[in-house]
Amino acid sequence: MKFIDEFRDGGLASGLAAAIRLAAKRTRDYHFMEFCGGHTHAIARYGVSDLLPPNVRMIHGPGCPVCVLPVGRIDMAIRLVREAGVTLCSYGDPLRVPASGGLSLLKAKAGLGRNGGVRGDIRMIYSSADALRLAQREPERQVVFFAIGFETTTPPTAVVIKQAQALGLKNFSVLCCHVLTPSAIASILESPAVRQWGSVPLDGFIGPAHVSTIIGSRPYEFFAEEYRKPVVIAGFEPLDVMQAILMLITQVNDGRAVVENEFARAVTREGNRKAQQLVAEVFELRRSFAWRGLGELPYSALRIRGCFADFDAERRFAVDYQAVADHPACECGAVLRGVKRPQDCRIFGSACTPENPVGSCMVSSEGACAAHYSFGRFGEVAVAK
Ligand code: SF4
Repeated sequence: MKFIDEFRDGGLASGLAAAIRLAAKRTRDYHFMEFCGGHTHAIARYGVSDLLPPNVRMIHGPGCPVCVLPVGRIDMAIRLVREAGVTLCSYGDPLRVPASGGLSLLKAKAGLGRNGGVRGDIRMIYSSADALRLAQREPERQVVFFAIGFETTTPPTAVVIKQAQALGLKNFSVLCCHVLTPSAIASILESPAVRQWGSVPLDGFIGPAHVSTIIGSRPYEFFAEEYRKPVVIAGFEPLDVMQAILMLITQVNDGRAVVENEFARAVTREGNRKAQQLVAEVFELRRSFAWRGLGELPYSALRIRGCFADFDAERRFAVDYQAVADHPACECGAVLRGVKRPQDCRIFGSACTPENPVGSCMVSSEGACAAHYSFGRFGEVAVAK
């Protein structure tokens, strides 16, 4: 198949659905986690769950970069603007993630200048290069790029840091919140809900698409081998996801637990070596990083290496992370760990909607709650609550 429509073909989807029904044994249940928010979005948008037999269940994982940002990290970004007077450049979705005190970056932006004397600003950008260009264009501003995301978005951040160094920019830095996929998968597999209590039954994973183009399929081999969980890396189209589910069911039936690659049109075992080298040159592992829902995870995120310290906003402005509890009604943590479904949260679709998100999982279209709300035909449920 060459064109994207072919990966959304209804006839082929029906055929795959029939193959899945045939392969799934009626004597057992199958529970698969799609790690990545892109898959969650595709499953909700194209109604993939509706095409599966009742004994094949999908569990949403923590692979939405906006969702796993803890409140304290958004607070840090707001403090940089309000206290250090920087111009913070962020992608659109993080602007709406709830922070402490009913704030978000968007609300903080609206309040800037009201009390006079605040020099900071918040700008929405489409790429890290936009932030660099702003710093070049307006040297009187201290521009900070709010860098979030998994391994897919890390190489472009590395590029702008190297460019800023080459240009000798004194007014550009990065608030680095890049996180690592394998650590999150390990955390899920090591969690009591999976290992001791069995409250999250897991028979296998759909591995990320874009992340795997960078890191390759090799890092997942450990999970398949050590935890006896099959992994199938899949593209983001509905037929990709359905094919991956069929491959996972087949592995489970055969008693196999290996890494298979459904997304061979973009992912290799080794990944993108050039991007990996670039990332290794600019970043190093953080000892510990707080994730929303998963807590403090050792060596689960990146920080900027000492040789690029001038471009590290945390060092330049001496701003530190302070843990803050989520909204008391918010179940984002449980949703991100696969312990609860979005509709299990009592404020889903009532107090918490994409227009007025209370938790981070309702912000991005890749968030499980936003995907369910937008495509899961829950509008009627919300009204009835
Ligand atoms: S409905 Fe809102 S508050 Fe509840 S888990 Fe989802 S995002 Fe969090």
